[in-house]
Amino acid sequence: MKKSELASVVSSIVQKTKVLDVHTHLYSAEFGDLLLWGIDELLTYHYLVCETFLQAPMPYEKFWAMPKPKQAEYVWEHLFQKATPVSEATRGVVTTIRNLGFDPRTVTLNRLRQHFKSITVEEYIDTVFDNANLEAVVMTNNVFDHEEQTVWAKRRKRDPRFLAAMRIDPLLNQWGDAVPRLSKAGYKVKVKPDTATCREVRRFLADQADIMEPVYTAASLPPSFEYPEKSERGILLDNCILPFSRQRGIPFAMMVGVKKLINPDLHVAGDGVGKADIGALERLCQRNPENKFLVTYLSRENQHELCVTARKFHNLLVFGCWWFLNLPSVIAEITCERIELLGPRFVPQHSDARVLDQLVYKWEHSRKVIAEVLTAKYRDLMDAGWAVRKSDIERDVTAMFSGNFKNFASL
Ligand SMILES: [Zn+2]
Repeated sequence: MKKSELASVVSSIVQKTKVLDVHTHLYSAEFGDLLLWGIDELLTYHYLVCETFLQAPMPYEKFWAMPKPKQAEYVWEHLFQKATPVSEATRGVVTTIRNLGFDPRTVTLNRLRQHFKSITVEEYIDTVFDNANLEAVVMTNNVFDHEEQTVWAKRRKRDPRFLAAMRIDPLLNQWGDAVPRLSKAGYKVKVKPDTATCREVRRFLADQADIMEPVYTAASLPPSFEYPEKSERGILLDNCILPFSRQRGIPFAMMVGVKKLINPDLHVAGDGVGKADIGALERLCQRNPENKFLVTYLSRENQHELCVTARKFHNLLVFGCWWFLNLPSVIAEITCERIELLGPRFVPQHSDARVLDQLVYKWEHSRKVIAEVLTAKYRDLMDAGWAVRKSDIERDVTAMFSGNFKNFASL
C-alpha cells in the first residue's frame, strides 16, 4: 500500500468494521420503558442538563419539578437556540439529528417529536444499529432493579444484539442497603459478612446469572477504592464477586474513579471525578491470576499508569474512554498512548449510551478519532520500514472493535 492511500484505507476499514459496544445503559425492546429513546430523552441526558445549568441557571428544584418535555424545551432553548452547540455532548445531538435527515439548525423540536411518534422502537433499534454499524451492545443489568427483574422473569426469546452484564454495585458500595434486599429475596445474610453470608451472596449471584447469562459482572468504584481492604467491600470482593466470576469464567468489569454526587442538587448529573490508586489494581491482578479484569478509569491522570499495568498482566483488558474522557482530544491522546504501550490489545471505546439515539453520534465521533490515530501509527510503522498491508489493518481493527473483548470474555 502507498503511504498516500493510507488515510482513506484506514478510514474505510474503521467505518465498515462492526463494533461490539462493551458497555451501555441500553435495553432490548422487551424491557419496555427501561429503554430510553427519542428527542426528549436525548435532550435531557445528564451531560446536557449539567451544561444547561451553566448556561442558564435556575433553581434546581424548579427544573426537576418540570415534566420531561418541559425540561427538554429548556435545554433546547438554552444550549441550541441561544448558544452554539460546540461542546461534545451538544455536538452529539447535532450529529444525531443530522443522521435522522433533518437540518439541526432549522428543525423544530415539535417536528422531531412528530418524527419519533411515527416510528416504532423495533424499527428504530434496527435503524440505529445499522447507522452506527454495531454487531451488539452490552446492557447494564442491575441485580436489584425490580422493574428489570419482572422482565427477566417472563423473558422467553432474546434479541441477540443485546448482551447482559450483571451490575452488582450495591454489594460493594452500599452493603447496608443490599442486606435487607437480599433478605427479602430469601437469602440468609447478616450485616457482618461472615462465611455463611458470603455463601448466600454467591448463591444469589449464581441464581441471577442463571437468569441473565451475563458476559461479565460489573461495578463502578470510587477513587478511594483500595485492595486488599479490611472492609465489607474487601470481604465481599474476595469471598463473593471474585470466586463467583472465576467459577463462571467471566470477567469482572471495574469502572474506577467516580465521585458520587459532588453536587447532589444536580441528581444523576452531579457526579465528579477523582484520581485513584493504581496500586489497588496491580495487587488485584497479581493476587487473583485466575480472574479476568475488564477495566476503565475515569481520571485522565490514571490513563498512563493503567496502560503500564495492563502491559504486566494478561488477565487485565483495558476498555473505553469513559464519560468525562469521551472527548475527541482526550480519546486521541489515550488511544495513541494505548497503541504505543499495548499494540492492538485493548478495547478503544465503549459508548456508555443511555439513550438509544446516542449510539449514532458516539460511534461516528469515536470512529473518526480512532481512524486518525491509527493512520498516524501505521504511517510511523511505514516510515520505520514495515510494508503495512490492508489485511493487517483489518485484523487490528476487528480485534479492537470486537475480537479482543470476545476472546477475553470467552464468547
Ligand atoms: Zn456506564
